[in-house]
Amino acid sequence: MPILVMKFGGTSVADLDRIANAAEKVKREVERGYDVIVIVSAMSGKTNELVNWVETTSPLYDAREYDAVVASGENITAGLMSLRLQEMGVSARSWQGWQVPINTTSAHGAARFVSIPRENLDQKFSEGFKVAVIAGFQGLSPENRITTLGRGGSDTTAVAFAAAFGAERCDIYTDVDGIYTTDPRVSSKARKLDRIAFEEMLELASLGAKVLQTRSVELAMRYKVPLRVLSSFEETTENSGTLVCDEDKIMESKVVSGVAFSRDEAKMTLVTVEDRPGIASAIFGPLADAGVNVDMIVQNISERQAEHEVKVTDMTFSCPVNQVARARKAMEDARDAGLIKFDELVADEDVAKISVVGIGMRSHAGVAAKMFKALAAENVNIKVIATSEIKISVLVDRKYLELAVQALHDAFELDKA
Ligand code: ADP
Ligand code: ASP
Ligand code: MG
Repeated sequence: MPILVMKFGGTSVADLDRIANAAEKVKREVERGYDVIVIVSAMSGKTNELVNWVETTSPLYDAREYDAVVASGENITAGLMSLRLQEMGVSARSWQGWQVPINTTSAHGAARFVSIPRENLDQKFSEGFKVAVIAGFQGLSPENRITTLGRGGSDTTAVAFAAAFGAERCDIYTDVDGIYTTDPRVSSKARKLDRIAFEEMLELASLGAKVLQTRSVELAMRYKVPLRVLSSFEETTENSGTLVCDEDKIMESKVVSGVAFSRDEAKMTLVTVEDRPGIASAIFGPLADAGVNVDMIVQNISERQAEHEVKVTDMTFSCPVNQVARARKAMEDARDAGLIKFDELVADEDVAKISVVGIGMRSHAGVAAKMFKALAAENVNIKVIATSEIKISVLVDRKYLELAVQALHDAFELDKA
């Protein structure tokens, strides 16, 4: 039998009625002749609640226990989905990560897949079961502990199963009817795309578009899994939603294909560090060791040069706003250990990152100029800029986020096909 993977996110399994609605969609695919692997998220809000319980009980929690608690939301929906399918006359069985087993690394809270042996599920399918319901987001470490894959990880579970079982397609059912030129909750002019290239989706996801977890796109690209995003609240057909696919299968050729943003960023500046070989390593080594996800980096001339005898520079970097305290501690520890010197560490915790993405940028000049002009026209000040082959990102004051997204969406005419 051909295999199809269907993943239902939190809002798609938010209550018993929605689980029943999702089960109807699964039943339809079974009737079309598929053996179906269903991946479920926890009911929406559940994972946040569990995380909050952990953090309240133990602020500097043991990551193994965090995973033991936080993975549990998916166990409930997996069992309920299987029961619902059985009530509808579909032979289904649920599986938690350890039962498959979904083998992962032991990086608790951000584990990666190592292997997904097929035997147990294949055995059940060969006994006539039509649906395997898998608890998303979780796995098993070599030490026999429950792991989780990072927020949004059920997307990655879905793609990993599609790859392991050679599924015909991996369908991600969610609360929007596809991938848009930007988050449709921020811009009413956002336009749904029929197709998007793996590489573009990878950039959009890693720059903040949470419609797919970044790692899921990476895996789909590597294992050539046809990946589709579609709505669980609408009637869907073979052509619904957005297909994430290879570049050469895309007709539309825009220079910029999407705008992504990340709301909760911080900009930190180490004021007056020594300007000497090795200084960047002395700063970013300790930050990496402390687990700070540094993104943009700029080294600039210090306004306070005159006050110093040696040559100094200011070093600015960005990181997620919830890592500011950790970054500050890492820098103060490095100073106490004599690795670096600085006058002060200034944190701006009210910034957001906005990025334009498109594979067309590889062969087109002038994208950055157009981007900066559009932001200037709205009087939005740019604080940091970073570019790569297919994206340009800027940091701006968070209060301008919506305005800047709209302005860029308009400037690159993303509302027009
Ligand atoms: P699920 O719970 O189904 O995994 P998520 O909330 O993780 O759903 O992802 C879906 C959400 O992603 C949408 O509701 C939308 O607000 C957001 N989103 C961000 N960027 C985009 C985009 N470019 N296209 C579609 N949705 C986007
Ligand atoms: N329930 C997990 C989360 O909220 C995983 C997921 O839904 O993909 O992050
Ligand atoms: Mg998600």
